[in-house]
Amino acid sequence: MSIDIIGAGIGGLTTAIALEKKGIKTRIFEQAEQLKPVGAGIILANNAMQVYEKLGLREIIEQNGNPISSMNITKANLTAISKVDLKYFEQKHNVKNIAIHRGKLQEILLDQLKNSQIALNHKLNSINKIGNQNQLVFDNGKELTSQVAIGADGLNSVVRQHIFPKNNIRSAKQICWRGVTEFDLPKTYGNELNEAWGKADRFGFVQIAPNKVYWYALKTFKQSANEYDIENLENYFKDYNTVIRDIIFSTSKNEIHTAEISDLSPTNKWFKDTICLLGDAAHATTPNMGQGACQAIEDAYVLSECLNKYDYYNAFKQYQKLRLPKAHRVVNTSWKIGKLAHWKNPISRKLRNTVMRLTPSKVNRIQSEIIFKLETV
Ligand SMILES: Cc1cc2nc3c(=O)[nH]c(=O)nc-3n(C[C@H](O)[C@H](O)[C@H](O)COP(=O)(O)OP(=O)(O)OC[C@H]3O[C@@H](n4cnc5c(N)ncnc54)[C@H](O)[C@@H]3O)c2cc1C
Repeated sequence: MSIDIIGAGIGGLTTAIALEKKGIKTRIFEQAEQLKPVGAGIILANNAMQVYEKLGLREIIEQNGNPISSMNITKANLTAISKVDLKYFEQKHNVKNIAIHRGKLQEILLDQLKNSQIALNHKLNSINKIGNQNQLVFDNGKELTSQVAIGADGLNSVVRQHIFPKNNIRSAKQICWRGVTEFDLPKTYGNELNEAWGKADRFGFVQIAPNKVYWYALKTFKQSANEYDIENLENYFKDYNTVIRDIIFSTSKNEIHTAEISDLSPTNKWFKDTICLLGDAAHATTPNMGQGACQAIEDAYVLSECLNKYDYYNAFKQYQKLRLPKAHRVVNTSWKIGKLAHWKNPISRKLRNTVMRLTPSKVNRIQSEIIFKLETV
């Protein structure tokens, strides 16, 4: 069996690696002319690192990233509100949470592919059903016959629009800026993710390599993201801790990525006939739990195990059955966290912070326990 993967993002590349390990051939089609590294970081949580351990990539990812042993929510001045201690999970699953540059991760993944072809400049335009097969039609004029295809083409998936045209993308009405900067972070923050919550805005930062910090900042908008101007970024976060203000100051404005935050409202079907969705194409989530890519990586693992064990139809069925509940849990919880984080009313915020501060660490641990546990195929 040969499988066609649309999209060479983290989900598509990890799927190709996992399938190669099972001896299943893939062709990958990517719209970009070049696979340029996005100037941002990413946290590969314990569940994603368990998958990369199975794929033989744990060590190289650890060598190129920075271990994170604690995830903290703080006030704008960086005093703690809540903390998830990740050391318990490091010991339990024998892998760490790793913060890494996205470009570095992409390089590592690409390096692993030995037998898969990646066709760049292949933007999928449409799919035609011809008998039992699919004809993939690309913007560059090429048309190819495909037996089994995986849509790993992200939030605005063309593959999904072909098999489920009615899916609903939701705007969280939040604008997000992301950057990577050369910055000497105080040692105390060296192995932590800190996310500071202000008034309808927040700022997160984490070290991804020596003297390299990845940060992200979000603000609620009313009608459109154009209500904000990147030139005023320092001003929007002027009431935050000086470390945060210094991080913003140290980043060159033309290297900051700006995006609106959206997700896909949960749907109960991820496949139709010989075509299946994976990662953001199936269950795009808001980034509030740092789990979007981690869920795509879990998809890649479970789907490759299923395709190794069953015929494609039963593999898709089993994959959906195993992966859907957790992926939807992430989408729904993340959506709620995004709203909670941006509360404006000072009394509600005070109450929220008190409740979060008093929540026993055992409760936070149970939440993470569910997210970090991999499904068995
Ligand atoms: C601000 C922010 C912070 C985040 N932080 C984290 C984090 O810390 N941890 C985490 O796990 N997740 C995080 N995420 C989520 C994560 O980035 C995504 O969930 C993840 O990238 C999804 O991977 P994917 O491969 O499914 O899709 P994508 O990364 O979107 O990749 C899709 C690929 O398909 C290609 N493509 C699209 N359309 C076509 C087409 N028609 N034809 C051919 N190719 C096509 C695209 O060019 C792209 O290469 C964050 C997201 C945001 C917005």
